[in-house]
This record gives sequence, structure tokens and C-alpha cells, in this order.
Amino acid sequence: MSTIRCDVLVIGAGAAGLMTAITAGQRGRHVQVIDHANKIGKKILMSGGGRCNFTNTGTTPANFLSANPHFCKSALARYSPYHFIEMVERHGIAYHEKELGQLFCDVSSKQIVKMLVDECQQAGVQIRTQCSVERIEHGTDGFRVHTTHGLFHCASLVVATGGLSIPSLGATGFGYEIARQFGHQVLPTRAGLVPLTLSGTHQERLAELSGVALPVEASCNGT
Ligand SMILES: Cc1cc2nc3c(=O)[nH]c(=O)nc-3n(C[C@H](O)[C@H](O)[C@H](O)COP(=O)(O)OP(=O)(O)OC[C@H]3O[C@@H](n4cnc5c(N)ncnc54)[C@H](O)[C@@H]3O)c2cc1C
Repeated sequence: MSTIRCDVLVIGAGAAGLMTAITAGQRGRHVQVIDHANKIGKKILMSGGGRCNFTNTGTTPANFLSANPHFCKSALARYSPYHFIEMVERHGIAYHEKELGQLFCDVSSKQIVKMLVDECQQAGVQIRTQCSVERIEHGTDGFRVHTTHGLFHCASLVVATGGLSIPSLGATGFGYEIARQFGHQVLPTRAGLVPLTLSGTHQERLAELSGVALPVEASCNGT
């Protein structure tokens, strides 16, 4: 199979991978994005109940938990929620504030995925789906990434394969494996914000509550 040369190879066409690809492409780098799923941005499509809660105007570094709290400060100083809102407005996507600064699309999360794909096209980024990585090697001349679409040779490699939630959408622990391969310390994972998924009698009894959101204070065994 042929060798595909690029400056930047991004593995993972989710929110993080596409935003990285757009930025690198706008800086004049030749960028390729690969994803093993058949469709890009699947998690974006289901986010916000299908209307993508795409940002929060009240976002500050204090909203993030991190072993390195300074990372969020520098990241948000360079790219604030208002930069993203500017892009959403430039693409003519109608949105509304639900509450507490949460911004949702009026129509559909599909508009956010289309916006990211259009931005990729404008920045000359090429996206390939159904492309699986077989192995990654690093040498003095950059990274060699062996895939089902051939060998990619790149100077910079971005692994944006997301977290473990919802494997049926393509989520894997691939990013953690690659981090370990290159000697990074990986903290144990644990569940974050996830929906309650019910089946059987519980589903029948509680189905009517689906989609209802309200402020609650819950306690269990003193916690
Ligand atoms: C039900 C639900 C609702 C949510 N609602 C919101 C919301 O309203 N607002 C909000 O801000 N956030 C929301 N989130 C969180 C948000 O969706 C995620 O934080 C965000 O999508 C993560 O983006 P990502 O690019 O890091 O990862 P992902 O979106 O998971 O993208 C990773 C990509 O990498 C690909 N991939 C994985 N392994 C491999 C591999 N081995 N080889 C090649 N490709 C691979 C996957 O196919 C996927 O396309 C929600 C999450 C869920 C689960």
C-alpha cells in the first residue's frame, strides 16, 4: 500500500480531533484525520439530547479538575467560549441559552458536525473514516502509523481518540495504550457524567420522566 505523507496526523474525528485539525490546517500544515468509525463526530451528534450543548458562557478554569490546574488557564485564555460562539454565528447556526449560560442549537447537533467538517475543508484537512491503526513507530524522521488505509508518515501525531464512554459509538482505550507505549503516566479511569440507562420494569415505570431536567439535591448513605 502507498505511503501518505503529511505534517500532522490526527487519530480520532471527534470534537477534539476536528478542532485540532482545523487549527493546524489554518496554520498552513498539511493535515490528515483518520477514524475507525464509519461516521465522524458521533458523540457530538448525541450530545445535549441531539441539540449539542456546544458551550457555556460562564466557563472558567475553576470548572475543571486537573492534576495541572494551570493547563486550563492557558487553554481558556487562548480559546474562550466566545471564539467558538463566533464560529457558530459565522456558520449561521441558530442557538439559544437554556439556563446558566448553557448554549444549545435550536435545531440539531448535526449542524455543529457540519460546521466542523466545513471548517476542515476550508483549512485543507482530509478526513478518512473506517481507517484502523495497526501500530505506531517513532523514529528520528517522525512517526510512522500503519493503518488499514496504508502507511502514514508524519512529523506530528495527535491522538484524540476520546474516553471510554459509549463503546457502541466507537470509543476505545486506544489513547491510553498509546500514551503508555510512549512512556506517559496514565491515571486509572473512572466514570464521569453519564446518563442513567434503564431496562425492563424500571424503564416502563420511569419512561415518562425521560428528558426532564430540574435542580435536585440527592443523598445516599450519608454522601
Ligand atoms: C450522552 C452524552 C451527552 C453529552 N452531551 C454533551 C453536551 O451537550 N455538551 C458537551 O460539551 N459535551 C457533552 N458530552 C461530552 C462530549 O460529547 C465529549 O466530551 C466530547 O465529545 C469528547 O470529544 P473527543 O473528541 O475527546 O472524543 P470522542 O467524541 O469520543 O471522539 C473520539 C473519536 O476517536 C475515534 N476512535 C476511538 N478509538 C479509535 C481508534 N483506535 N482508531 C481510530 N479512531 C478511534 C472514535 O470513533 C471517535 O470518533 C456528552 C457525552 C455523552 C456521552
